[in-house]
Amino acid sequence: MTKILDGKVVNEKIAEQLRTEIAKRGTRPKLVIIQVGDVPESNAYIGRKKAFGQKIGAEVKLKRFPETISQKELVGQIIVYNRDPQYHGIIVQMPIPKSLDKDQIIDSISPQKDVDGLTSINLKLLWENRKEGHIPATTKGILTLLDYYKIPIAGKHVVVVGRSFLVGKPTALAFLNRDATVTITHSKSKNLPSITKTANILVVAAGKAKLIGRNHVSSGQVVVDVGINVVNNQKLETRNQKPGTEPHDRKIVGDVDFESVRKIVTAITPVPGGIGPMTVASLFENLLETYKSQT
Ligand code: NAD
Repeated sequence: MTKILDGKVVNEKIAEQLRTEIAKRGTRPKLVIIQVGDVPESNAYIGRKKAFGQKIGAEVKLKRFPETISQKELVGQIIVYNRDPQYHGIIVQMPIPKSLDKDQIIDSISPQKDVDGLTSINLKLLWENRKEGHIPATTKGILTLLDYYKIPIAGKHVVVVGRSFLVGKPTALAFLNRDATVTITHSKSKNLPSITKTANILVVAAGKAKLIGRNHVSSGQVVVDVGINVVNNQKLETRNQKPGTEPHDRKIVGDVDFESVRKIVTAITPVPGGIGPMTVASLFENLLETYKSQT
């Protein structure tokens, strides 16, 4: 029978561990989430982070700025939080308006407070496989979920679909650091099924609903679906659809055609309830690390 890799169960276990550890310490870790503009999906993600923080006894402050904020002003605000010892972690919620230089903004976060693990310094530490850095939350969540279900990584062939800065690249690197043999595919890769079928572990982070179907997988595989796509019953639509065109009966699906793929593979993550809850839990594991290093 196909094993469902349940991120909600592991999220609960991590929450319990973090809650116990924070309760023992007497003081609380504090995270600030910086939001620029008002993207509805960001509001949903921020809501989940706040709820998880509350559950474990961490403080989560949301600091909102208008879309019109200048680069200089935003960087200045981040520097204020870098210097404020009350805050142990800083997140800039993506996406931010295109008018802002994302890389410069991320790099203005102190690496010691970078719980998303996306500053150049933390990415370099991941690149070098050094333990003192913070691993990007989604990547960390994928590895923690596989470890929880005792799925071996070393020596396995891992195929990552997607090469983004946020998910694909750091995830491929983290698997390499765990001694996997890694292949990265992307939108220009030719004959995707011939590559994905050779994976022992297939990680999909493309943002395309039903990209991976029965022809892309083979028996014995472990499939990790990172995608989050909004769809309705008639027509598949990605999260990039225009505001106001969202269907009434919207639901969230991954990049993998779950029902047909689950019949073939050994283990698979559901969407929702797979990597999403793992990402949130991993973010707060990173917060606990930054908090410990600052107190
Ligand atoms: P992105 O748009 O930055 O990158 C998508 C990547 O997929 C690109 O590298 C592109 O080359 C590749 N791609 C697109 N079409 C492809 C195709 N037909 N074949 C092969 N590769 C293809 O997106 P992202 O930020 O990496 O996010 C990917 C998905 O993961 C999105 O649905 C996003 O919402 C989701 N996501 C989920 C979590 C979570 O916690 N579960 C966290 C972050 C992102």
